Amino acid sequence: MDEQRRLHYLDAMGIQLWARRGAAEGSRHTVMSPVVDSGQVAEVNGGDISGLDWETLRQRVLSCTLCDLHKQRTQAVFGVGDREAQWLIIGEAPGADEDRQGEPFVGRAGKLLNNMLLAIGLRREEVYIANIVKCRPPNNREPAPQEAQSCAPYLARQIALIKPKLILALGRVAAQNLLKTDRAVGSLRGKRFYYEQSAIPIIVTYHPAYLLRSPQEKRKVWQDLQAARELFSSL
Ligand code: URA
Repeated sequence: MDEQRRLHYLDAMGIQLWARRGAAEGSRHTVMSPVVDSGQVAEVNGGDISGLDWETLRQRVLSCTLCDLHKQRTQAVFGVGDREAQWLIIGEAPGADEDRQGEPFVGRAGKLLNNMLLAIGLRREEVYIANIVKCRPPNNREPAPQEAQSCAPYLARQIALIKPKLILALGRVAAQNLLKTDRAVGSLRGKRFYYEQSAIPIIVTYHPAYLLRSPQEKRKVWQDLQAARELFSSL
């Protein structure tokens, strides 16, 4: 991507010129042991989903009634993008727009996410985007641990099918569930973790919805994105 276009997307993200100068300092990522425990449970509704193909998995998600979130959803939001993507982006849960349209990150936070990705040269269509839970929690509350747990095998199967080179975890709920930790996002940023027992690195950054409320944090997200890009290039 030429510099002009990159600057355009950075501006769309709200990143000012002064902020980009500090980017290099954020690219020093410490390698840490993963704070994970072993496997996801691949049992859903009494059935093993670890061998499901994309279409069967999608149907299982769309008709899932494992937790109470199904009662109020318009539809489950499976995930979108390139099923062979090298980048997997993981958010928290669908909001009202996503519940209506059946696609993750289509509201205001989604527009910001698109610009964040473009700023590091990635179009939305070339990554895969999914959430920790597939159904909208009422009033956009945070997913309960049991809801996230019920949904986890679906995401685990998506990850196994995609085989991404890198996972970007957006916000606390994504980071804490993927890494099985209760540490704050601020302490997980700038470090490299690994998904489960795999060699797939996870980079943690703030959620775009949080950035809409706290635009002063965009500088840190820009640092994280650059670090992710650098790491990806080195893989
Ligand atoms: N926030 C998320 O975490 N996911 C979405 O799909 C939309 C907003």
